Amino acid sequence: MTDSKTKKEERMDINTLLGDYLVEKPEPIIGAKTIQIFLIREILDYTALRTEDTKELNTVATPLSINSKEQISRVAFFASKQKAVESRELERMLRTAVEKQGGIENDKLELGDNNNEKKVKKIKQCYLKDKLCMECPRCVLYGATALSQEANIKHRIEYSTAFSLLPWDDIEETITFNAINDKNIMTGQALGSRYVVKPATIFPSIVTLKSVSREELILTIKTLLSAKSYGAETRIGGDIRNHIVGIAAGWEEIITPLEFTLELYDKKINIEDKTSLEIEQTVVAILRDYLQYTANPDKIKILDDKKEEGNGANTGNVQENGGQEIVDELKTVIDEARNQQLGSDFLYKIYKDVQKFRETQS
Ligand SMILES: [Zn+2]
Repeated sequence: MTDSKTKKEERMDINTLLGDYLVEKPEPIIGAKTIQIFLIREILDYTALRTEDTKELNTVATPLSINSKEQISRVAFFASKQKAVESRELERMLRTAVEKQGGIENDKLELGDNNNEKKVKKIKQCYLKDKLCMECPRCVLYGATALSQEANIKHRIEYSTAFSLLPWDDIEETITFNAINDKNIMTGQALGSRYVVKPATIFPSIVTLKSVSREELILTIKTLLSAKSYGAETRIGGDIRNHIVGIAAGWEEIITPLEFTLELYDKKINIEDKTSLEIEQTVVAILRDYLQYTANPDKIKILDDKKEEGNGANTGNVQENGGQEIVDELKTVIDEARNQQLGSDFLYKIYKDVQKFRETQS
């Protein structure tokens, strides 16, 4: 499509932007198609990021930034902590969407469509950790280990430890709590301390998808946007908002979360005084720098904002700027995911895909 008029008429969507890096439906054999989703995980309440056996925050020594090799401590947000919350969030979202279509019957959910008798599919309940159904979109994306003789499912979503943007001593706080006597409302002796990160702490983070379908990308984006409670002791604190600040696709991963944090530290990223477009542009610039290290740079697509002359169709992602239009590709993808209804057609496709996936395995 070299003709500019034809190009304008082509509506930008997930398939036109990322179709080369998506599969039609999930398959047990995983290829090189990789999509990295870049996040800023913004802490919105005191949050305990620690392992169960220690009360202290997980910290790790890292360089201060890409340009400064001075060693400092950063708080680590372990991959397992991010994954556990998001896997559950996806399970809840799917269960609620399916329930809305049918309802529970004999420990099974029935997904139906009144207009089409064929669109009926029995769905099993699925719970972490010991009742994974091995038959739902969550199990097929996050992976599942069979308890019986069935084949295991390998995960196609990958998490890595995220590192705080700022050094540990800038973001940690120790909260001492006291016992209150219910009878006389007198404060007793100190019971102990909680070690937490403060609100407004930022964790740059990356979620990586391998050989996923359009529907799985949409489910992942919805999950990242809706998950909001992380860390230990979530009944008091742990609120987090995930901002999607970039998406890149290719036949490989472009950058790791530690590199992402060290680069953003150098760029003095501060989400309070930057617009989302400015943050996206910073992320795009960082990713372009890392193309020099990739094996197949010609196969990499970084979602960017495109400037075009004239007046094409206004999709809501178009901003006028002195006769030029700026089309925000990242916003286009995120909005398409947000606006996708989890209705019977969508649910039928993703559950049918899982069924075919399991049939291929056996
Ligand atoms: Zn399942």
